[in-house]
Parts: sequence; structure tokens; C-alpha cells
Amino acid sequence: ASSTNTPLPRRLPPNVTPEAFQAFITRAQSIVGIENVTVVDPQNPLDDGTYMDNCKTHDMHAVYERDYFVASAVVAPRGVPEVQAIVKLANEFVVPVWPFSAGRNVGYGGTAPRVPGSVGIELGKNMNKILEVNVEGAYALVEPGVTYFSLYDHLVETGLREHLWIDVPDLGGGSIIGNAVERGMGYTPYGDHFMMHCGMEIVLPNGELVRTGMGALPEPGNNPSVAAHEQKPNKAWQLFNYGFGPYNDGIFTQSNLGIVVKMGIWLMPNPGGYQAYMITFPRDNDLSAIVDIIRPLRLQMVLQNVPTLRHILLDAAVHNPKSHYTDKNTPLTDAEIDEIAAKLNLGRWNFYGAVYGPEPIRNALLEVIKAAFLTVPGSKFYLPEDRTEERSVLHMRSDTLQGIPSLDELKWVDWLPNGGHLFFSPIAKISGADAALQYEVTKRRCREAGFDFIGTFVVGMRDMHHIVCIVFDREDPDQRRRARWLMRTMVKDCAAHGWGEYRTHLALMDQIANTYNFNDNALMKLNETIKNALDPNGIMAPGKNGVWPATYDKEKWVL
Ligand code: ADP
Repeated sequence: ASSTNTPLPRRLPPNVTPEAFQAFITRAQSIVGIENVTVVDPQNPLDDGTYMDNCKTHDMHAVYERDYFVASAVVAPRGVPEVQAIVKLANEFVVPVWPFSAGRNVGYGGTAPRVPGSVGIELGKNMNKILEVNVEGAYALVEPGVTYFSLYDHLVETGLREHLWIDVPDLGGGSIIGNAVERGMGYTPYGDHFMMHCGMEIVLPNGELVRTGMGALPEPGNNPSVAAHEQKPNKAWQLFNYGFGPYNDGIFTQSNLGIVVKMGIWLMPNPGGYQAYMITFPRDNDLSAIVDIIRPLRLQMVLQNVPTLRHILLDAAVHNPKSHYTDKNTPLTDAEIDEIAAKLNLGRWNFYGAVYGPEPIRNALLEVIKAAFLTVPGSKFYLPEDRTEERSVLHMRSDTLQGIPSLDELKWVDWLPNGGHLFFSPIAKISGADAALQYEVTKRRCREAGFDFIGTFVVGMRDMHHIVCIVFDREDPDQRRRARWLMRTMVKDCAAHGWGEYRTHLALMDQIANTYNFNDNALMKLNETIKNALDPNGIMAPGKNGVWPATYDKEKWVL
């Protein structure tokens, strides 16, 4: 294809002429092959696709118009040298690029770029090899396209699942690299994915390739004529995170400073036994007591995994759409929520955890856990076999908490017709008073916006990620508007209480970054200094997490 028959996109990258865009595309085609370049042609509708067959052009849960956060083209490199070549090309043409791996990232923007007209770099399509699974060291080294499903299937097929478990987030289609660099969570003892990563190989904004940590120390015996990305890695690359000197990996997470093309991830040795459980609590205001019970148990690691305390409507939505329970389309009242809980034989709050290890260890832990939680009046303890439903949420969580990936949690997005969703994710102390206040503040705003409160507290090592799931009808402009109002209002409310979000959708990145403004925005100044040093042309994911290169007038881009 010559540039003359390259279609023009719905949106050009900023300050790029149609001719320059076409020339860029022609060059990109010669790097990655014609079949790996797609221009987002205005002739074609922006089809959202499905979770497993996701669109690569825009946010499938668009909260603005679909063609706002939209790419001009998507390019899928076939290997590290092609990633480097595309990054160099982007510098030459000053075209913004937006890297993604599997591109699911649901509730946070999917594959969509922050700057309309950016060129998506789809790493997952062709770079999806499991480079190593090391049983003795209990780790894997993967490329961006390796998903939870694909690594799990590989372990099962090779018989290695006997030895090694993975940690999965709620949905199994995400990329292991994509989720770790966004600092996502799963639910086993290895639930903090960034904490459990070890070693990265990164293409910098100037196209240079680095290995972090021990990866910077060459492995003896490599032939120096072999390209850097193919050099046999240092044997401790996936064993010791920090190497020598400043520890860099963190600046490549939730950032726009590089493209991660290889990453190590620690896997959990088969613990020798496993048991999932659920504890239900009948009253909405049990929350504070439950959280105060969680704190010491989690800190002492009696709670070995990342447990979750789920609001009843999250579980209700996994089972059925709202229309199954009620004809109304306004938020449910407390009495109606109680009725749903009774019908489902669940609590207003439902706690899901698991114990790991040989039977005597599991029994001892379960005894302590039961003794602590069952002091809450009306609370009940269940094992999966105690539930009579064909597949209860406890059955689903029992898979997730042992690292078996699934798609079960997709169902709650169908709470409303044409369900789209956004996550609002403030951090809370593991403290009853803090959690109750945060619940109160966010629930009140959800109701004000005309939505049901649906949420879960995900318990980390010393914090809770409070995940508020905002479900809206994505074909209804008024619901989209209310969802945006709700997000913006909750960001303000939470900042006023000293609470900040751990991750966010594209639309909120600037607003949230602005709340992290201690000492006259000192952190943002540091981030911008690094950004401008590593990416002087401002081509790499401009605006990601509120960090704009000097080449953009950030005031003009704030939404
Ligand atoms: P998921 O794993 O949920 O499918 P994505 O692939 O959509 O996640 O990635 C989520 C976000 O993480 C992207 O929008 C991008 O900002 C960042 N990201 C993903 N993969 C990479 C990567 N290999 N290098 C740098 N950033 C990445």
C-alpha cells in the first residue's frame, strides 16, 4: 500500500498533517508488515467488541462519546526490534503512541489513548511468548501478550500446575505485564502484582533497550554479536528485584516512560492444600466491626491471601441483572437491598478468603478466623460445599483464590442494560471508622447520581483498595453524564478527607494527579522532570496518569 491509498483516520494525532500521517503509516507498514497496521477509518463504525474479542481502537465502556478517546491507527510489532523501530519513527514524525498489551483494562479505559489520534501500539497480538517457567526459582518470564488464561493453560498442559500456581485478578483475559504495570491486584497471597514482579526489559522513549535490576549484569558466555533483546539473561534477574543503584522499575508503572517488553513474575509454589470460605454479615453497619477484625489478622498473616469484603449488590449483580430483582430504575432502598440479601441467602457484607497449606495448618488458621469474625452477631461461616446454588459467588471465588482464571465477574456489568462500567478506587486504612466513612461518602454520592452503590474492599498488606463499581447504560447519554459527575465529585470528596485513588480511568487522570499535590505539586514536578529528560519529543503516552510532556500545554488538555 502506498500512502495515496492510506485512508485518513477519524482523528489525526495533534499537529500532524494528513500527508505526514500517511507517510508515517507507510513507514510503519514497512516495519511491522501491512497486516499489522490498522488505520481507524471513519467509514467503519466504532464497534465495542466483547471482553475476549476486545476493540483496539477506543474505550469499549466509553463514558464520553466513543470517538473521543480514539486512536488514529493501531500498530502491532512482531518483536522487540520492531517496537524500537516504531518508537524511533514516532520521534521522527512527533506522533504520540499509546502502548498496551492485551488491552482489556476494563473500567479504566481499555486500549484507548488519553490523547485522541494517538497511535496504539498493540504488543499483545504478536509478542505473546512465555519465555521461561522456572520451577526451582518459582517464576515465569513473559512477553506482553501473555494473559492469565494463557499462562494458566500452559502450566496445566505442561503438568507444571502441580508445582506452581499463578495469581489472577477478577478477569482472566488481562495481560500479566499490563496488569502489573498498572499495579493491579489479585487475591492469593501473591495478590500484589507489582510487588511480585521481578525484572523488566524496557524500550525507552528514544528506542533504547534496558534491563532492570540484576538484568543489567551480563550473563557470562553471551555472544556479543547477538542483539541485546536476545542475550541470555542474568540468572538472578527473576530472583532479586533491586540489583544495584537506584531502583527503577517503579517509574515504569502507571507511567509514560517506556514500553515493557519482558517481565518476570513470581509464581506461588503449590501450598500443599487449600480451602476457600465465606463469612456473611447481616447488617449494613456491621462494616466497621468487620474491618477492625480484619486488620490484626491480615497484618499477622493469619489472613494469608488478599481477601475481599463485598457489598451485597456486587454478588447480586454477578447472579442476575437489576431487572430480575425489581422493576424500578432508581437506586434500591435499604429495605429492598435487605430483601435481595435474604433471597440470595447472603449478608449485606460478604467476606471471601482462603487458607493455604497442609490440613493441620488450614484447620488452625480457620479456627482463629472463625473465632474472630463470628463475634459479629448474625454472622455465618460457609465452605463452598455448604452452598446449594449451582455456582455461587463462593464457588467462583474458590477458583480465583487458587489462581484459576475465569470470566465470572464480567456478569455484574450487566446489572443495567448496555452495561458499561467505571471503577472508582480510593485507598482506605484497614480501620473500621475509616472504611465506614468512606463507604458512607461514596454511597451517598452514588445514590445522588441515581446509581446503586456496588463495591468491594480488597485487603492489601496494610491498606484496602476500595473498589466502587459504577455501572451505567453506555447507550444513554444522561447516564454517561451522571457517571462522569459522580466520578469527579467523589474524587473531590475523597481528597477532602485525605483519600486518594490508586488507579483511574483516562477521563480522571488529570483531576486525580492534581490531588496528589503535597508541597506545591513537588511530586508532579519530579515526574515531569523525568518525563522531559527521557522523552523530549513527548511521544510516549502523553497525559498518562496526568503527566504531560513539556511539548503539550497541559491546561488545554484537562477534561
Ligand atoms: P490488560 O492487562 O488489562 O489487558 P492493558 O494491556 O490494556 O491491560 O494495559 C493497561 C495499561 O497499562 C495500558 O493502557 C498502558 O497504559 C499500560 N501498559 C500495558 N502494557 C504495557 C507495556 N507493555 N508497557 C508499558 N505500558 C503498558
